Amino acid sequence: MSDITIIGAGLVGSLQALYAAQAGLSVDVFERRPDLRAATLYQGRSINLALSDRGWKALSDVGLADAVREIAIPMYKRTMHDVSGPLRYQPYGDEGQAIYSVSRGALNRLLLEAADRTGKARFHFEWRCTSVDFKQKELHFDAVNSGQRTVRYDRLIGTDGAFSAIRQALMMNDRFDYHQFYIEHGYKELSIYPDEKGGFKMEKETLHIWPRKDFMLIALPNPDGSFTCTLFYPMQGEGSFESLDTDEKVLDFFQATFPDIVPLMPDLVQQWNTNPASSLVTVRCKPWNYMDEVLILGDAAHAVVPFYGQGMNAGFEDCSLLNAAWKEQGGSFEGLFSSYAAQRQPDGVAISELALRNFIEMRDKTADPMFLLQKKIEGRFAAAHPEKWQPLYSMVTFSHRPYREALRRGELQDGIMKQVMNRPDIEQVWDSEEVELAILNAWNQTPELH
Ligand SMILES: Cc1cc2nc3c(=O)[nH]c(=O)nc-3n(C[C@H](O)[C@H](O)[C@H](O)COP(=O)(O)OP(=O)(O)OC[C@H]3O[C@@H](n4cnc5c(N)ncnc54)[C@H](O)[C@@H]3O)c2cc1C
Repeated sequence: MSDITIIGAGLVGSLQALYAAQAGLSVDVFERRPDLRAATLYQGRSINLALSDRGWKALSDVGLADAVREIAIPMYKRTMHDVSGPLRYQPYGDEGQAIYSVSRGALNRLLLEAADRTGKARFHFEWRCTSVDFKQKELHFDAVNSGQRTVRYDRLIGTDGAFSAIRQALMMNDRFDYHQFYIEHGYKELSIYPDEKGGFKMEKETLHIWPRKDFMLIALPNPDGSFTCTLFYPMQGEGSFESLDTDEKVLDFFQATFPDIVPLMPDLVQQWNTNPASSLVTVRCKPWNYMDEVLILGDAAHAVVPFYGQGMNAGFEDCSLLNAAWKEQGGSFEGLFSSYAAQRQPDGVAISELALRNFIEMRDKTADPMFLLQKKIEGRFAAAHPEKWQPLYSMVTFSHRPYREALRRGELQDGIMKQVMNRPDIEQVWDSEEVELAILNAWNQTPELH
């Protein structure tokens, strides 16, 4: 029996396998899908993700940051596309700060290969975990080539995603809290293919957004010159994926709402009809462990909506925190899962809340000039007083501050900014010393921020 058994070889499971194997532990990983190194799972359409500091930290822990940098595209700013044509820009952070577009399949592959190379991790593909018996420490599988199988484990980590079988088993335990909900919006992915010369049809090193108040479209670049676009739109009702049920309605909708996209996507209608509309779920639960024997990480513990670009980053941070705690304990598992789970779980709730709020910011507020002015004032103050103030987006994306602290500080800072934005002459005096002093005074009167 291996030291650690992991269920799910997605992004988080593969990373956790690598951490454990590099620490000298033997690992067995069971994955319900075929080996993505052999399968065509991610070929054709590229699906990408925004990678930021919390994710990079974990990747450099396991020595993969340089390899990932080779396949990642920096995005230094948001580019907002108006219906009428003009573009507006908002930098993500200080000069040189960026979030990175990276292919989900390529990243997963790098992690799997690195874990494989250690010689300490064994992967079992097409093994679907169907149930767990915590008392007997037994896992039950439906395996494509081996039928129904039972496997014993010593320590079990569930990284089997938003609909986790391991979490499902934890739910049978006394006092397990569970809350799952869907938002009204779902998403559909569409591609803008490269031009005839293999070049990008829009600016490359930026995240494109078409904010349309109640919904939005975004696009992230891929190394092959294409962009992966994601439309976030209601699933049902008037003005929804369901209501766009003819080719004509789809084209009319795009022409009226995203006119600059239409010429870039000649096969729009075909893609629309081929690619599914998928739902967006949030999962909050606790405890994430069963004694010091079973633990869930990543989406299995905290599935969040994708609007902060943090789901994977949070899952990667789970792994780096768990492995740091294990090292601090001198490699002992005593109390590890229970103390890690208790400490980290409120951060899972916080990032799920931040992600829900950021949808409103992205789809609605990024089109509002007063909101962009607020961001400018905040950025200016933060640059002058970096020890006092970090904008919320930076705390979440470019720091390692616990999410719950970022959420709380962000709320307090927002309260201060609201007072400042209430000044009738703010558009004229936004860069004055007076405004800076007003923020400073309010900050001084907010001890929680000190
Ligand atoms: C549209 C969209 C955009 C996103 N964009 C971003 C982004 O920009 N940045 C970011 O950080 N995050 C983003 N995310 C979130 C990110 O995709 C997830 O947080 C991340 O994939 C979680 O990784 P995971 O390994 O925990 O789960 P998963 O990626 O879901 O992997 C779980 C694995 O477990 C396997 N599995 C499931 N059940 C079983 C079973 N019973 N037995 C065996 N194996 C099983 C699955 O096949 C899968 O391989 C986005 C999500 C969506 C939907």
